[in-house]
Amino acid sequence: MILFLDFDGVLHPEGEDRIYDGGVDFCFLPRLEALLREFPFVKIVISSSWREHLLNKTLLKPFSSDIRTRIAGVIPPSGFGLQPPYRNREGEILAWLQIHDVVDEPWVALDDAYWQFDQCKDHLVVCGSFTGFDDRASAELRARFEGACQ
Ligand SMILES: [Mg+2]
Repeated sequence: MILFLDFDGVLHPEGEDRIYDGGVDFCFLPRLEALLREFPFVKIVISSSWREHLLNKTLLKPFSSDIRTRIAGVIPPSGFGLQPPYRNREGEILAWLQIHDVVDEPWVALDDAYWQFDQCKDHLVVCGSFTGFDDRASAELRARFEGACQ
């Protein structure tokens, strides 16, 4: 099971420009990490647009060391040689699955940008941009992980 993880509007409410002002919030990351510890078979791939501005080392910094070791990479940057239909976030995720030869692996995307998903909406656990990874999103993600255990 692969979790494609967005940051803004998920790990913290969407808001100010957090990349350039040096401010880092990640207030909901502990909640997500606690859930992930219950499901050690879940790998993480970062789908946040932060991947286009920051080095991998910086991207991984907010994560606890045990969770960091479960991060398998980042999806390809948008426009990075991706042809249609690999243009939106869904497409970038599908491209990652193909590049890594794991198209049959179950996956879920935790994201607030539901409009970035089309054919694969059923893989999406959506967060409200201004509420982030709240109780509802957490319960839904847990259900997806539990479903993958069966
Ligand atoms: Mg987002």
